[in-house]
This record gives sequence, C-alpha cells and structure tokens, in this order.
Amino acid sequence: MIFAANFKMHHTRASTTEYLDQLDKLLAEAEYPFKTIVFPPATALQPSREWITVGAQNAYPEERGAFTGEIGLDQLKEFGLDTVLIGHSERRNILGEEQEFLAKKFAFYAGHGFQIVYCVGEPLEVREAGDEAVAEYLWEQFDGIDLDYERLVVAYEPIWAIGTGRAAKVEEIAATHAELRRRIARPILYGGSVKPTNIKEIASVKDVDGVLVGGASLEVESFFSLMVAIAPPQV
Ligand code: PEP
Repeated sequence: MIFAANFKMHHTRASTTEYLDQLDKLLAEAEYPFKTIVFPPATALQPSREWITVGAQNAYPEERGAFTGEIGLDQLKEFGLDTVLIGHSERRNILGEEQEFLAKKFAFYAGHGFQIVYCVGEPLEVREAGDEAVAEYLWEQFDGIDLDYERLVVAYEPIWAIGTGRAAKVEEIAATHAELRRRIARPILYGGSVKPTNIKEIASVKDVDGVLVGGASLEVESFFSLMVAIAPPQV
C-alpha cells in the first residue's frame, strides 16, 4: 500500500521539515510495510527521509535552462530526489498543461529513471455519462505514456472528488481501477477526498494499491491516522 501526500501550495520550508521529522519518527516506530511519499511545494524540497520519499509536485523536462519559474533535473538532483508527480488535474486544467507536454515530461523523467506518479481523472460530466465514457476519457490521458515503465505509479483522481469532500463511491473506484488494470500492471492509487473516515473502505477495493491525499495529508496526525485506520501499530 502506498500513501502519497500532495501538499499543493500549502506548507513552508520550515513547516515541511517539521512535518517530515514528525512523520518519519511515527513511521519508524510503527514499522509499517507501507510506502510513503510526500510532495511538498518546490521551495520546501529536501532530501528524502529514512521512511519517507520526498517528491516534486512538478518539474520541467530539461536539466536546466531559460524556463522562468520552473525547476528541472539539476534542482531535483541537488536533493537526491528521483520522484515526480505528473498530470495532476490542477496542472492540466489551471496551468494549462496539455497531453503532449505531459508525455514529454514523462519521457524525460522516465529517461532519467525517476519514479513517476502519473495522474488521470475525469470531470463530472464525463462521470455522469457512464463507465464507457470515463474509460475513453482516461485512456486519452495516457496518450504518449509508456504504461510498461517500471517506475510508473498511476493515480486515478476524479476531478469532481478532489478537494470537494465527496469521494467516489467504492463501486465507481472498483470499476475504474479494474478498467485501468486491464493495461496497467504497475500500482494504481486512488485520490479524491480520501479521509480517515473513508480510507478503510477505499483501501479494501480490489486494485487500489494506495492513495494520493491532498487535504487530509496536510496535518501529520491526519495523514498518519489514515495508516493507523488500516493497520493499528503494534504496541
Ligand atoms: C489531490 O489533489 O491530489 C487530492 C486528492 O486532494 P484531496 O485529497 O484534498 O481531494
């Protein structure tokens, strides 16, 4: 099971450091078999901890260069990082990143051996059009993406469930993950309003290999409680 935390534009460098210190300690004590990834904002990037992989929420597909406001491979390598999030709906829809550009990012960071958490997700009108429409929409978001890449982790995040408090129903998650599983052998995470109250039922869905969490990951106690809900630490 993978637990990934997406801080988005929350937390500072100081609060991220404090968060990672606290979480790493809790994870060391609990000795969970889970894999934990934290994506802080770019200003708070720092080396991974013993029990936590730190990843970048975004990175430009170049080593360095004239790309104002971006960070690239050189900046990530300085911290020894090799995990990146690509295709989050906020980058697709708010920052206007198109599929061709996402595929370029994917190919670049895959070419450098990165672990890539690659996000896909449909808007509400597509969900309302039914499973077939959802499948068609999602597969288009894999255009140009190597589904056999060995360090690929997919995150299915229905846009209408992100930050809304309304997670997808277990049947919707099960059907969508089963569809993705037809062609994806790598881990598939679910994301969208995962919280301590629904983690258990979401984690029990077949083909859910982990979760990508926004709001409920911002406090250490809340993020850790997702893991505790699945496996209370042995005392
Ligand atoms: C996300 O943005 O990746 C996300 C899943 O957010 P939230 O958990 O707040 O819905």
